Amino acid sequence: MSVPYIGRFAPSPTGPLHAGSLVAALASYLDARVYGGQWLVRIEDVDEGRSVPGAAEGALDLLVKLGMHWDGEVLWQSRRGDAYQQAFERLGALAYPCGCNRREIADSRLGLAPDGSAIYPGTCRNGLAPGKLPRSLRLRVPDRGDDEITFIDRFAGPITQQLALDAGDFVLKRGDGYWAYQLAVVVDDAAQGVTDVVRGADLIDSTARQIYLQRKLGVPTPRYLHVPVVRNALGEKLSKQTGATAIVAADEPAALLALMAAARVLGLQGLGTPVSREAFWRAAVPAWSRLVRERGADLPSVVHV
Ligand code: GLU
Repeated sequence: MSVPYIGRFAPSPTGPLHAGSLVAALASYLDARVYGGQWLVRIEDVDEGRSVPGAAEGALDLLVKLGMHWDGEVLWQSRRGDAYQQAFERLGALAYPCGCNRREIADSRLGLAPDGSAIYPGTCRNGLAPGKLPRSLRLRVPDRGDDEITFIDRFAGPITQQLALDAGDFVLKRGDGYWAYQLAVVVDDAAQGVTDVVRGADLIDSTARQIYLQRKLGVPTPRYLHVPVVRNALGEKLSKQTGATAIVAADEPAALLALMAAARVLGLQGLGTPVSREAFWRAAVPAWSRLVRERGADLPSVVHV
């Protein structure tokens, strides 16, 4: 018997998939296969301003070429505005309009949250100052002392974050009118019944905010596993901004090269030298199974299928 498992890969189509995105895709795919679960794909194009035309289609095409087949329909965040609005309304008085611009928040000198966003000092918590116009919508977090959220990351173990200190009241809808990533991801993970989030460690600092939102919306908290982030020679996380090169899988050798590189980042052992994609997948699924067991990251009450 296996536990119910729904995993997902949720790329933002801000550019072509690169080595870093493939690591997250591979880990989430392998985890779903090991536990006999479903693997969903969600295109996180909520920030339509940053979405690059054709990037989502390119990512889906690449997944197929690599032999990563998803279950069900692809979910597109750009079509989910009504669901985000409804979730926002359920938050009631916990959400409030904020009239601060970036400079005002930076000037408060509370510094940066671990994910690089400025910590909000709570200026508009008790109402907009006269003359200030609403720009964004924020979610009130508990005051210091009551703001701790602890979760177990399947690789890193217990992680505690303090919402007031590490993030402050965070944005649900941005000044430019787009729903924020934190709200969209929580609403969609819940709507898709996701039980297992496997993604890059750059998002570990967002997890406490997402768990807080899940609690406020009354939706379940999935299990979390954060995998290593790929960095370039300068130590920067691979991204379009840092000039990451697009993965190409035009033929079998190129596909295998990309898959093996991602497998190395994950530390998969015993893959040998697969001669085809099929051979890669045959070796990679048990290799991931061994890795999660060795790292104590197995799911409860699971029989390997
Ligand atoms: N869309 C995010 C990204 O491409 C991933 C979000 C998530 O997995 O929660 O980095």
